[in-house]
Amino acid sequence: MKARPFFSAILLALLLFGCSCTQVAITGRKQLNLVPDSMVNSLALDEYRSFLNENKLSTDTQATAMVTEVGKRISEAVGLYFKQQDRYEQVADFNWEFNLVENEEKNAWCMPGGKVVVYSGLLPITQDENGLAVVMSHEIAHAVARHGSERMSQGLLYQMGGIALSTAMKDYPDATQQLFITSYGLGAQVGILLPYSRLHEKEADRMGLIFMGMAGYNPQTAVDFWTRMAQSKEGSVPELLSTHPSDATRIQGIKDAIPEAMTHYYKATGQTPPTYQYQFGGS
Ligand SMILES: [Zn+2]
Repeated sequence: MKARPFFSAILLALLLFGCSCTQVAITGRKQLNLVPDSMVNSLALDEYRSFLNENKLSTDTQATAMVTEVGKRISEAVGLYFKQQDRYEQVADFNWEFNLVENEEKNAWCMPGGKVVVYSGLLPITQDENGLAVVMSHEIAHAVARHGSERMSQGLLYQMGGIALSTAMKDYPDATQQLFITSYGLGAQVGILLPYSRLHEKEADRMGLIFMGMAGYNPQTAVDFWTRMAQSKEGSVPELLSTHPSDATRIQGIKDAIPEAMTHYYKATGQTPPTYQYQFGGS
């Protein structure tokens, strides 16, 4: 989307003067947010319920239990992190739910308010609970960081001239619903693909690794997961296989973010970090 100068000026003014801005946890980045959580969560709940009506839950009880367990542990870690930061209000209205649906797509998402869905087509790639933790913590990070709301705010600004969400919903209900669907990465269901930006992906990767580490899952396993994911590319896969960033860039970014996440992992699991011994000489 090309930014028109007029709207760019409004955006700049909003960011500079701090109105309607929120700050992303962990990275501290300031983001535009014109969208109240309560309204977004209620829109999300409608979409979530209709998705569950149209999609069959998995009958694999073992895999379903694993998705629930991994989700529960990550969401508890998220809650703990925000409590420690004295920002619990940012996740207090999350009402977590975790589902595994029968669908061959390699996909997963977390809607605003904590409604998480994993598609069964992803399980051959996640392989075990660590792989699942990589994906689920990444998707949860997008939701916790309000990436969808940020995109929706940009859409309200650029496409609708900066009107309030309530006005948009009243005056342009169809366009607003469309904007919601694309902003929150749900567009694949209706054939629209809007990948998250490279910035959002990188942020979700870093936050996700920390959350999985805090939940006691080893962040080092993320490199293998994303390598398997990159190798599995065939057909169209939304969100998780978006072209931003490229696989090599993403995997390098993951490697760079692992040491920080490992400190949380060692703390959560009570393990002692390895000490590195320098070796001199030798061949
Ligand atoms: Zn993502």
